Amino acid sequence: MADHKPSILWFRKDLRLDDNAALHAAIDAGGPVIPVYIREPDDLRNVGPLGGAQEWWLHHSLAGLKAQLKSLGSDLILASGKAQDVLSDMAERTGASAVYVNRAYERTLIDRDIAIALKEKGIAIRAFHGQLLHDPKSIRTGSGNPFKVFTPFWNAMQRLQETHPPIDAPDAVPAPDHFPKSEGLDGWKLLPTRPNWALGFSDHWTPGEAGAAERLEDFIDRELHDYKRGRDLPSVDATSLLSPHLALGEISPARIWHATSGQPNRAAEEVGHFRRELAWRDFCYSLLIEQPDLDETNWSDGFDGFPWQSDEKGFIAWTKGRTGYPIVDAGMRQLWQTGFMHNRVRMIAASFLIKDLMIDWRRGEKWFRDTLVDADPANNAANWQWVAGCGADASPFFRIFNPILQGEKFDPDGDYVKTYVPELQKLERKHIHRPFEAPAHVLEKAGITLGVTYPRPVIDHGFARDRALAAYKALRA
Ligand SMILES: Cc1cc2nc3c(=O)[nH]c(=O)nc-3n(C[C@H](O)[C@H](O)[C@H](O)COP(=O)(O)OP(=O)(O)OC[C@H]3O[C@@H](n4cnc5c(N)ncnc54)[C@H](O)[C@@H]3O)c2cc1C
Repeated sequence: MADHKPSILWFRKDLRLDDNAALHAAIDAGGPVIPVYIREPDDLRNVGPLGGAQEWWLHHSLAGLKAQLKSLGSDLILASGKAQDVLSDMAERTGASAVYVNRAYERTLIDRDIAIALKEKGIAIRAFHGQLLHDPKSIRTGSGNPFKVFTPFWNAMQRLQETHPPIDAPDAVPAPDHFPKSEGLDGWKLLPTRPNWALGFSDHWTPGEAGAAERLEDFIDRELHDYKRGRDLPSVDATSLLSPHLALGEISPARIWHATSGQPNRAAEEVGHFRRELAWRDFCYSLLIEQPDLDETNWSDGFDGFPWQSDEKGFIAWTKGRTGYPIVDAGMRQLWQTGFMHNRVRMIAASFLIKDLMIDWRRGEKWFRDTLVDADPANNAANWQWVAGCGADASPFFRIFNPILQGEKFDPDGDYVKTYVPELQKLERKHIHRPFEAPAHVLEKAGITLGVTYPRPVIDHGFARDRALAAYKALRA
């Protein structure tokens, strides 16, 4: 039997064994496999470090992956340093001649520079597809350019062959005689301590591949049938909640896509709707590939001179969920307490920051990146730009969400608000989204003193709307 050299399997944002093309290729190479996760000092430098909430997630995800690999006779080696240095050093010490990796599309994870550095040392890098439904190069306009509008992108995607059938996790991963020494996960200090603001996270989430698979199964059994109607209602459990798992690659989009096949006929429309949302993720990545500094630069340079305000008081009120607009406050508090915010409320809260407070969307993007467990460089930046009106295929700037009407439409009974803004729990339904207009005796009955137990609005929405529209008009002129 040929004496195969070891292969290094480099995990990045693909923390799973299921549908992991790089893992399978490394095993197929025939030699022992050395799985490694590298923490770079400049980790994601260009898009900022991993946010605090996602570091909490990463800790648990890596612990889970290590345990899984151990159960298959392998291990996960944790190492810190610059990726190419760690990899070439490890290859030298173990005799490995190739690094297997799944393709990633963020600036700092782009493989080209690393591949060049490794090649100089005689180490090959073999990259595989799997982070998206389709290889971004396969979805192009007739003239070979990337799409800038979602619907034609989605139509083109549907004309392609379906995304690849997922490959099952292996039964065993061949181990070397000796694994290189691993750093300790606890030493990476990914978990918050003083204060431990993530205390409530584990009531909501089970990071790791097993948690992702369970979430997918539950979603298909319980929520998918009502997805189209329910997905806009923040008090209803109707969406998959798979985004944090997808963000670190604990589940592949292809696995999700195929799991929704074969549903009874009545669910076909729901499945179509859900898959369309999943395709938005591919679309956001295609934008990120096109414009790697999507978190910093307006997609449309027509917004470059926008007169953003430096309203520190407003920004702090927004981050703390104390704007005086209950739906915005509920969203921002959901984010702080659980690391997540419902999609509809993300749009309302983002619109409030950008258009009511006229605070630069980039500040909001950064805040979300630090506090969301599903923070994703493509989805976050593209969606912030979408709300701001400066993105590709964006919502027009003059579409300014009214936080009161949005609340009344999508949370008519105020159930979502009452969950996250308990001081409004006793307020009558009629006033739940506009406590500042409630008569004094109604407030008194509900135990609310405006400005004391619950804030007055930080800004009048009517005034804010006119101000934003005037600024937009001036910019265009
Ligand atoms: C201002 C703003 C910031 C956002 N930041 C992020 C972020 O950092 N990370 C993130 O994953 N999503 C982000 N989104 C998109 C969306 O809110 C979340 O993907 C969604 O709420 C996740 O919940 P879910 O998994 O239950 O979604 P589901 O409704 O179950 O959708 C399934 C999957 O489709 C994808 N998806 C759904 N909606 C979108 C969308 N609008 N854009 C791109 N992909 C989508 C996600 O991967 C999601 O997990 C943002 C939206 C806004 C308006």
